[in-house]
Amino acid sequence: MRAVVMYAPGDVRVDQTERPTIVEPTDAIIRLAATCICGSDLWPYRGDDEVDHQPMGHEYVGVVEEIGSQVTSLTVGDFVVGTFFSSDNTCEICRAGYQTHCVHRGPGAVPGAQAEYARIPHADGTLVATPGMPDDDLVPSLLAASDVLGTGWFAAVAAEVGPGKTVAVVGDGAVGLLGVLAARQLGAERIIAMSRHADRQALAREFGATDIVEERGDEGVARIKELTGGLGAHSTIEAVGTQESMMQAIRATRAGGHVGYVGVAHDVSLPGEELFFSGVHLHGGPAPVRRFLPDLIQLIWDREIDPGRVFDLTLPLDQAAEGYRAMDERRAIKVLLTV
Ligand SMILES: [Zn+2]
Repeated sequence: MRAVVMYAPGDVRVDQTERPTIVEPTDAIIRLAATCICGSDLWPYRGDDEVDHQPMGHEYVGVVEEIGSQVTSLTVGDFVVGTFFSSDNTCEICRAGYQTHCVHRGPGAVPGAQAEYARIPHADGTLVATPGMPDDDLVPSLLAASDVLGTGWFAAVAAEVGPGKTVAVVGDGAVGLLGVLAARQLGAERIIAMSRHADRQALAREFGATDIVEERGDEGVARIKELTGGLGAHSTIEAVGTQESMMQAIRATRAGGHVGYVGVAHDVSLPGEELFFSGVHLHGGPAPVRRFLPDLIQLIWDREIDPGRVFDLTLPLDQAAEGYRAMDERRAIKVLLTV
């Protein structure tokens, strides 16, 4: 089968590889309907994470092709949406809604979903079947639910977004933009998107942003304060993962407010004294997308939300390298790869 492999930073190729097979009786093999490139794939692409001949891709939708002998909730032919970490969905941590920290999850994310087929561990816990075969135009939105929508949603929940609240969103990538969508769905009164790109600002407004702040860093914080009577936002979504973005999020939040952080942290170190005196709640990490997946699938199925709008470039799998370049150069928000 064809699969995307990152040989080294900046070197993405489409290789012929072995089709995966069932290894554990709880596995399923799925045939990908579509896949995509994640903002987090850019960390190794840019050399910020180590990479050596790594099969890429952890966002996926597709059709169940084969199941292990212990898989009970799925059948061959089901259309499924899965999450980037596998989880049994039955352990105490999973039942508390933190499936990304499942005590039985394997090391790292589900690998190799930028391919024609993928092996999904803990299929009963990890995969959620859609109510039927989706119309083609729903596939991008279902694919978004696999990671970026679920991650933006978790960030909003972690930031305690709710009716009457003012929400600030740091980061205008797919996760930040879908954090805006989530904040709107969760009833936020005012949503301030921080972005300096016209196309991303437009999509943020379409998803429900009421204000745009173009300034960054201390100036961005000052603008948020200005817009909130000097207090800061009730809830801030951090969707980048750098020192600057994290401090921007904490400083833009009022005392007693909440930061939901989902940008994968790279060299972030928090100053204890400033944190102590801020009175701000911090919660985040790898989003337990599985917690939200059934509800998100239903919202998409009922056409109440259209998170697939974040895909602004579609390429065949064979042109994955161009997809990585487009995202790296920020020519594309998010790239969908047809299989
Ligand atoms: Zn578990």
